[in-house]
Amino acid sequence: MKKSITLLCILAMVSTLAACGGKPADKDNSNNDRGFTTVVEGKLIMATNATFPPYEYIEGGEVTGIDAEIASAIADKLGLELQIDDMGFEFITGTIASGKADIGLAGMTVTPDRQEEVSFTVSYATGVQVIIVTEDSPIVSLDDLFAEGANHVIGVQRNTTGDLYTTDDIEKKGFGTIDRYSKGAEAVQALKTGKVDCVVIDNEPAKAFVQEVEGLKILETEYVTEDYAIAMSKDNAELYEAVNGALKDLIDDGTIGKIIAKYITAE
Ligand code: GLN
Repeated sequence: MKKSITLLCILAMVSTLAACGGKPADKDNSNNDRGFTTVVEGKLIMATNATFPPYEYIEGGEVTGIDAEIASAIADKLGLELQIDDMGFEFITGTIASGKADIGLAGMTVTPDRQEEVSFTVSYATGVQVIIVTEDSPIVSLDDLFAEGANHVIGVQRNTTGDLYTTDDIEKKGFGTIDRYSKGAEAVQALKTGKVDCVVIDNEPAKAFVQEVEGLKILETEYVTEDYAIAMSKDNAELYEAVNGALKDLIDDGTIGKIIAKYITAE
């Protein structure tokens, strides 16, 4: 009798295990039929910093803009639901590398340092670092920032390429100091109130900020041209191939061009 109860128990356990066998998806979504896994099954989580118009900004309580639309088009193509997590720009690559988000879109420039931490997809847009000054500024060209005896205070958004370049080219060479802000708009306010002499930032948000704040202009001389791409984990080759492939298709079929043209009118 004892024996048969034990046997029954074992049988029951085996069948329970078998019944559960089809559902390890809760913990490990590797046996779906998509051929790739995401941080949360069925979702594509995008990390961004929504202070960067027209690529990402808040409108009606929602993250909107070029990057949000591109991510949404990619999610649609892959049959996933897009979730957007808004955070400080400096936390995006770490969030991706530590497996808390699938994709980072934030008008993010491909740089060798970032490539040590994350993989980048093909580039989907170009950015240019420009200089914003007040209309009556003595700074009239990029060269003024590197001129003999120059000593300006440069406003930048922390950890952006504007910060990296000016730290190397200006601060480390003794041509001035860098004031780092967590948002580009705060750097622009500091310019307006005279706390900094100029702001180095990407051209599209620069245009948006100059339109909003009176008395500012963008210098015609450009600083650095760069490529924007999507940051992804180095440890998920299948998802990388899926997202990169979807992005390439969306570039080829003109979808990305259309999304960008909606927000940026060609001069
Ligand atoms: N393109 C710049 C960078 O990648 C700025 C991006 C941003 O501020 N969102 O550093």
